[in-house]
Amino acid sequence: MTSSPKVIVGKKEEYSADSVIIASGLQSVTLGAGEEEYVGRGVSYCAVCDANFYKGKTVAVMSKRGSGIRGAVELARQCERVVLLDSENLSVFAENNKQKNIEVYSNVRFKRLDVDGVVKGVEVEIDKKSKKFDVSCVFVELGKKPKTDEYAGVLKLDDEGYIVTNSLMETSLKGVFACGDVRNGALKQLVTACADGAIAGTYA
Ligand SMILES: Cc1cc2nc3c(=O)[nH]c(=O)nc-3n(C[C@H](O)[C@H](O)[C@H](O)COP(=O)(O)OP(=O)(O)OC[C@H]3O[C@@H](n4cnc5c(N)ncnc54)[C@H](O)[C@@H]3O)c2cc1C
Repeated sequence: MTSSPKVIVGKKEEYSADSVIIASGLQSVTLGAGEEEYVGRGVSYCAVCDANFYKGKTVAVMSKRGSGIRGAVELARQCERVVLLDSENLSVFAENNKQKNIEVYSNVRFKRLDVDGVVKGVEVEIDKKSKKFDVSCVFVELGKKPKTDEYAGVLKLDDEGYIVTNSLMETSLKGVFACGDVRNGALKQLVTACADGAIAGTYA
């Protein structure tokens, strides 16, 4: 990245260019259990996108400090039963929740997925007791983070790992630009990502 021209090492080829634009967006925070292997087979990172596939089924939502509430509410419209498993205390939501098919559990620690080719269930620990839920899908709704680990120490990142740019989408390294969700913009939307891309393209 610091060379001139820049060299980008891909899986199959290397590319060189005078300018580079990084537009790698956000990635979902995972359970750290290798569950990505089961995406499409009972693991999903997007309740809004995949709720439709689990109509009338029982599903679980892995949540951290309420990050899964929105997804659970969305899923409850279509699924028979939604088990909301949060690592912190969700008692306020539990008391006020009007959707009877959402079961709320607080202080949950993820243990493992029960798999047999596809996901069959999820095992967790609640107040130091093991509990297993038979579910058709585990929705991992732990939030999003920028894909920038590989740039640490090379580009200036903010405290949350977003690439810092100026208004021309220039990063701290000459010739390297960043645009869209991966940079420290105020809004993470299609319209801002497109505008950032237009600016980065022009100045690159
Ligand atoms: C469920 C959901 C609903 C949304 N709804 C709306 C909405 O209604 N309206 C709205 O304005 N915005 C919405 N957004 C936000 C919007 O999608 C994003 O703000 C926008 O897509 C950001 O664009 P981007 O190009 O920065 O990143 P992305 O669209 O995330 O694109 C990044 C791309 O880079 C690829 N990539 C990452 N790393 C690498 C790598 N190492 N090598 C090669 N490729 C790589 C990724 O595979 C991906 O294709 C929604 C987002 C989500 C998740």
